[in-house]
Amino acid sequence: MRTGVLQRLGLDSHPRVVMGARENAPGVAVSFDPATGQPLAGVRLDNAESYERTLRTSVEGFKAWRNVPAPVRGQVIRAVADGIRARKDDLGELISLEVGKIRSEGLGEVQETIDIADFAVGLSRQLYGLTMPSERRDHAIREQWLPLGPVGVITAFNFPHAVWGWNAMLGAVCGDSILWKPSLFAPLTALATNEIARAAAERLGHKGVFELVMGLDAEIGERMVADRRLPLISATGSCRMGRRVGAVVAERLGRSLLELGGNNAVIVEPDADLALAARGITFSAVGTAGQRCTTTRRLIVHESIAGDLIARLVKAYASIKVGDPLAEGTLVGPLISEAAVQGYERAIAAARAQGGEVLTGGQRVNAPGHFVAPTIIRAPAGNILPIARDETFAPILYVFTFKTLDEAIALQNGVDQGLSSAIFTGSMRSAERFLSPHGTGSDCGLAYVNLGTSGAEIGGAFGGEKDTGGGRESGSDSWKAYMRRQTCTINFGSEFTLAQGIRFE
Ligand code: NAD
Repeated sequence: MRTGVLQRLGLDSHPRVVMGARENAPGVAVSFDPATGQPLAGVRLDNAESYERTLRTSVEGFKAWRNVPAPVRGQVIRAVADGIRARKDDLGELISLEVGKIRSEGLGEVQETIDIADFAVGLSRQLYGLTMPSERRDHAIREQWLPLGPVGVITAFNFPHAVWGWNAMLGAVCGDSILWKPSLFAPLTALATNEIARAAAERLGHKGVFELVMGLDAEIGERMVADRRLPLISATGSCRMGRRVGAVVAERLGRSLLELGGNNAVIVEPDADLALAARGITFSAVGTAGQRCTTTRRLIVHESIAGDLIARLVKAYASIKVGDPLAEGTLVGPLISEAAVQGYERAIAAARAQGGEVLTGGQRVNAPGHFVAPTIIRAPAGNILPIARDETFAPILYVFTFKTLDEAIALQNGVDQGLSSAIFTGSMRSAERFLSPHGTGSDCGLAYVNLGTSGAEIGGAFGGEKDTGGGRESGSDSWKAYMRRQTCTINFGSEFTLAQGIRFE
């Protein structure tokens, strides 16, 4: 029984879940299995009143939570992670069921939350501020980092668990409470995940740290974004959503952390290891059925090796099994919805009309569910293919050719988005040119050498530039986004002295 995992995670008896719901009714959203098109269950949505109640719980939760010493907060994060570890298999399966990722990618997503939780536990003893010398005698200056407030977290459908994990584990260790609004394509994963976190925190006596609201964008999303009680809105999703959310939060002078769409390219140089490149590109282009923000959407290959590399890719694509994401051996599951399949078909039709040549794939798979064939399209001579400027959330790889590395980097940077980028090369000079410290190489937030564009580790800061929104989450010093900085100056002497030598006698 495909839906056995709902029982195992206790969702069938959860008061918000409507088992047997078949279509969206007022106040209820149904989650569908994209591999079959069949309903899984419904969830009761929030309205203005229940939103207000939950937000107040978050505000009260924050007021208590910020008083818990950071290393003690770390121990609560550890308990949350233990809860998630114990349910890793079930949560991974639920992710596969609800958004169509293959089993190992569903499990990998849960592992990402476990990893960032470990990171946050370590961080709980390292929320360091700086001290700096004062220009005045008997004065001291230091910076301290303080809890910020309840943080609104809005997540995309394609990482229905880990994006919450990145935000929630860091935000919570910083002393913030977390109010999560997930995508309505994956409400069951959100409910199961949040229940584990909330229960672990409450067992240790901390209420209101992990809260969840679910609702329509126009009703709940917009309300949350405009809410001045949420000093930070961290939103992951399309550039369209980011433009709206960024503007509303800026209007109230709030802080936003935006993780938006990508249009990621791989450059392949003549001296690259082509076997390695073919593997890296195939995983990055077709993994998660092309529904990662970091999916490789453009291949920019030196003209001297284009024929060889394309032949390898077409051969690799022919061996990829598309089908049930929970079945052994499947590498590509379904797209999230019928609308996504139509978006795929529209992009391919546009590419053809613009002179692109479909080398493999190009049509939906004739089966129930939202399956499509991974597709490679070669741009016409002159490399002008306007459709390749858009992020189509599907496994379509556009191929361009180049003569010089400068030309390739210009082509790679010549789109609106700036998330992930990669070069395959055997040359130290080319690799360093691509990563140039002058900022004249890749203009993306992520730059890889001899790897594809997907598959970041949690240790580094994750995010992108330009229309990708400029936010950074996950490792490194991303935690600073979830705190407020205070510069403290202390006069421990008895003289009144002013900075810059100003005299005021
Ligand atoms: P989406 O923009 O349709 O929705 C994302 C989230 O925003 C959902 O929770 C949605 O309900 C919410 N939302 C939309 N409009 C809103 C509004 N006006 N007010 C408040 N909330 C609103 O995106 P999607 O289809 O779920 O996800 C795919 C997109 O997300 C792709 O563009 C992908 O590249 C991007 N993405 C980016 C990253 C990253 O880290 N950069 C990670 C994952 C996904």
